This record gives sequence, C-alpha cells and structure tokens, in this order.
Amino acid sequence: MKLVKSLIATFAMGAVILSSAAAYAQDKGYVGIAMPTKSSARWISDGNSMVEQFAAAGYKTDLQYAEDDIPNQLAQIENMIVKGVNVLVIAAIDGTTLSNALENAAASGIKVIAYDRLIRDSGNVDYYATFDNFKVGVQQATSLVNGLKGDGPFNIELFGGSPDDNNAFFFYNGAMSVLQPLIDSGKMVVKSGQMGMDKVGTLRWDGAVAQSRMDNLLSAYYTDAKVDAVLSPYDGLSIGIISSLKGVGYGSGDEKMPLVSGQDAEVPSVKALLAGEQYSTVFKDTRELARVTVGMVEALIGGGTPEINDTKTYNNGVKVIPSFLLEPVSVDISNWEKVLIGSGYYKMDQIK
Ligand code: BGC
Repeated sequence: MKLVKSLIATFAMGAVILSSAAAYAQDKGYVGIAMPTKSSARWISDGNSMVEQFAAAGYKTDLQYAEDDIPNQLAQIENMIVKGVNVLVIAAIDGTTLSNALENAAASGIKVIAYDRLIRDSGNVDYYATFDNFKVGVQQATSLVNGLKGDGPFNIELFGGSPDDNNAFFFYNGAMSVLQPLIDSGKMVVKSGQMGMDKVGTLRWDGAVAQSRMDNLLSAYYTDAKVDAVLSPYDGLSIGIISSLKGVGYGSGDEKMPLVSGQDAEVPSVKALLAGEQYSTVFKDTRELARVTVGMVEALIGGGTPEINDTKTYNNGVKVIPSFLLEPVSVDISNWEKVLIGSGYYKMDQIK
C-alpha cells in the first residue's frame, strides 16, 4: 500500500511538473494558423507539423481549415484577431481577398506570414515562407521532356492551377520556360491550341474540373491522334486527368499511358507512380516549411529579424515581400523511395 501511495505521489508530482512545463511552454505567444482545405493531404501535414513544432517551441496555436470557402476563411481570420493572436500564418484560398482582414490585424499589431501562397494586394504582409515555385514548374516540365523517348513531335496538353493562387502562375511560367522553346521548334505540339493561364487554369485546384476538361480535349482533338504527355501542376488534378485518360483506354492493352506530371507527392499519387499511371510528382517537405515558419515567428515575437533568402521575386502588388524559398525535389519511379521513405516523410506501409 505504501509503495502504491508513493508511486501515486511520484506520478502526481511528475504530472504537476509536466503540466506546468506545458503551461510554461505555451507562454511565448499565440499563433493563428489559417489553412485552405483538408481535401488535400499536404495541408493536413502542414497544419500538423506547425502545431507540433510551435508547441515544442513554447507557443499556443489555433489551427483552422476553411474547406476552400473564402468567406469561411475570412471569418476564421477575423476570429483569430479577436482572440488576440500575436501572429497570423495564412495559406490563402484566394490570395486577393484578405486586404480588409489584414488591415484589422495590422491595427491590432498582429504580424502576418504568408504561408506557401502569396497574399496579394495588401501592404500588411510581413514575410513569406514558401518553396521555389518557378523551379517547381521547371521540374514538372523537365521530367516530362526527359521521359519522352524518341524524336517526336510529341503531343502535349497543358493544365494550370487555380488562377486566384499566385503560385499557379509561377508553376505555369516555370514549366513554359522549358516547354515553349520545344513548342516553337515543333518538337512538341499542343493540338488543342489551349495555352496561357486564362485557358488552362483550374479554379480551386479542382480535380473534377481537370477531369472534365481532359474528357473534352480527348474527344475534340484526340480521336485520331494520341496524347503523349500532360503537364499537370498538382497531384489532385493528375488523378482526374489520369482517370479521364483511362476512361478512353490509355494504359491498357497497347495504349501507353501518356506521361503525367504532378506536385505534392500525395500518397495516392505515389501509388499511381508505382502503378505506372503517373509519371512524376514534386516533393515539397512540409515539415521544413513549418520549421522555417516557426523560426520566422520566433524572430518576430522575440524582436529579431526572420531569416530570408529572397528579396526580389515576390511582389504582391503593393510591395516585395521578404521571403524564404525552400528547394522542391522532382520525384519519379527512380528516386521515390530514397526521397520519400528515406527522409522519413512516409513509412513504407503507407505506400505498399
Ligand atoms: C501549393 C501546391 C498545391 C496547390 C494545391 C499551391 O499553392 O503550392 O503545393 O499543390 O496549392 O493545393
């Protein structure tokens, strides 16, 4: 009995120490984290990594997802301002709709970090943590070009991301910096003629929209010809595109699957790489993006200067936002295991 009592006492003391450590640990500040949607796994990883890393560094967090609904995200941000957060970390749904909310934030002395997606048309954005988005597009196009065997000409169709996301233009422009010279020389042909973000953009990154556009392209331009490659900027679009291609027989019998690119290395798409359906994706380590963001917040709250490595690329329409750009990694069947499993981002049993 004595032993039990002393065990209980020791345990209780431990709990007191732990909980006061936890209380102390949350004392350094309060961070509002506004994420766009849970419909894509990458944003869930972003949110989880940030909550974990902020807690370990001693910050309290409020993490909210807006399910791609702009008024919902605005209300969440306003609510965080009312709750008295010290810093807002925002991955915007529509990068142009937050100006009024951010004016309120600035009036309350709240610092703002644009997370992964640039917030446009506002002077009240302090820092930007992201990846080299132009390079993402270069990697997507380069993987397709390197994967196409023979002299061509090759038929390619182009998909862009959501036109309200600044990143979509960087991805597209990066990809076209590789593809345009090949299109100009005739080595690659866009049979539909649909080029430019105004023609190939996919609102809200919606896979169903990409699937139906691919359906239309196939029935209008590819009844007698074959499509050899599809530039897709995001795994969620690639899934829709691949399912459209499979619907008309690509990937079965003698019909080779066109090379389809992607982004985010989401689990279903890594599985599609292994199945030979998707050709490539781009891995962006969300743990690293969280780490950079936590570092920025620590500096802002502690009165220091956040670490940045780019002061010229991201003009948001009002000013150039000081940024930290991480390196994206192109992934295909040859390196997925080393990059995704080797880094501990996924466990093998999530993929196989
Ligand atoms: C992100 C991509 C993501 C896309 C769709 C972009 O802003 O940078 O990683 O694939 O949004 O969620």
